[in-house]
Amino acid sequence: MAETTNKHLEGELAYPEHKFQILLEEKTLADLYTFDFIPAAENEEKLPVAAFSFFKAGLNESVSSAKKTLIGVGKLEELDLEQWADVLSSTAGKIVKNFKEVKLNIPAIIFRRFKAGQVANLLATAFGNAGYPSELLKSKDPAEKIILQKLFVSVPAAKRLEFQTQLEKFLVIARHINAMRQTQVLPGNFLTPTTMEKRALQVGNQYPVKVTVFDERQLKEMGAGGILAVARGSEEEPRMLVLDYNPAGAKSTIALVGKGVTFDTGGISIKPSAEMHEMKYDMSGSGAALHAIAAIADLKLPVRAIGIVGMVENMPDGKAFKPGDVYRALNGLTIEVQNTDAEGRLVLGDLLTYAEKEYSPDLIINLATLTGACVVALGNYYAGLFSPSQKVIESVQKAAEQSLEPVWALPMGRVYREALKSEIADHNNIGGRYGGSSIAASFLSLFLKKPEKWAHLDIAGVGMLNKSYGVYPAHASGYGIRLLVQIAENLGAEKK
Ligand SMILES: [Zn+2]
Repeated sequence: MAETTNKHLEGELAYPEHKFQILLEEKTLADLYTFDFIPAAENEEKLPVAAFSFFKAGLNESVSSAKKTLIGVGKLEELDLEQWADVLSSTAGKIVKNFKEVKLNIPAIIFRRFKAGQVANLLATAFGNAGYPSELLKSKDPAEKIILQKLFVSVPAAKRLEFQTQLEKFLVIARHINAMRQTQVLPGNFLTPTTMEKRALQVGNQYPVKVTVFDERQLKEMGAGGILAVARGSEEEPRMLVLDYNPAGAKSTIALVGKGVTFDTGGISIKPSAEMHEMKYDMSGSGAALHAIAAIADLKLPVRAIGIVGMVENMPDGKAFKPGDVYRALNGLTIEVQNTDAEGRLVLGDLLTYAEKEYSPDLIINLATLTGACVVALGNYYAGLFSPSQKVIESVQKAAEQSLEPVWALPMGRVYREALKSEIADHNNIGGRYGGSSIAASFLSLFLKKPEKWAHLDIAGVGMLNKSYGVYPAHASGYGIRLLVQIAENLGAEKK
């Protein structure tokens, strides 16, 4: 066997470390290559250099000399956060692979437009993602292409302190976003329920997080019929993994519940083959939950945070559950499975029941790449947000605005639950063609006694992207870590 430098080929969690430092710098560092952002209107008076004089500074246009690159931000009054995120991401992409030391000037006008925390968030996330390529399984480690060592960031003096605090926080978060991206991007033969167990245990080794593993036998004893039904057709044993971060003095508890289908063929209701390889991303919810718990512990947030993920592989096989089969869920309900590709909700149902029963959390957030219907409705730009409680919807929307991770509220409830009637069992797992994501959300609510303390995020559109958008890279997006950290932070601040 040839020696390999690539740790990912072992399948274990190689915790992403930034190869570069991001430092705040007020001084002029004349010997450094400098990147300056510049709006269209300020172009001419500020640019004495003849080489730059024709530059219009349109959005994301750039022009370079031997010492400097100018990057346009277009008309300042038209610049929004998404465009600013795009500009930062493409800048980060250029810098990390081409310069060892570089200075980035963020002018005062940007801080008149955006808050220091927003600029720090997008900068740290953009550079974090750019510094962590997703081609993990190349025999040559792709991180070798990253040559940046030091990035000096210059911000106006009045914003320095606030910017620095926020930058430090978001650089910690960036590391966990990349850990999640690593977990997401690995294919089904590398990331199985049992390798996810190893990852959870690694999180437990690095942070004050207690990890409990439930194997197939324990899931049977418990009566987790939904998880077991999905796992039946696979050679891979299922796992339920529970991560518990419980800092002294915590006054509230949040549970983060994630769907972890490590590969989804659809089961007997098999999917078309064309895009089936993308179904390795069907564990994105579990990646978000697992790595958000690590981030919350790393940031020492004063809130108890429980991560509960259900790991299964959905395969067709002689033992696989079949369309029309009925199983008994952890909360006792009987469910007729008319479509074995609507399997995530079976797993989540048991996880939600378990989360509520064991921990009585103040808030439960579940994340799942649950429905194609959500992608039809919202594209790749928003996670679908569902809750029977307007208060919970508003609190998640507020955290989404703060963390810059987009959500869009969609309806759920009784009218959608009507579609889930079964002739022989308590409920059917599917309910017709229209309103599929609302029906799925309404199905999940069946497994909670107090659904008003819960929100479901359908991340089918945002978990995996075909092309990059804002600070989200193509493929494994890392969506959800910033949002979940913010939700936990807000909950911790509520009951101080
Ligand atoms: Zn499916």
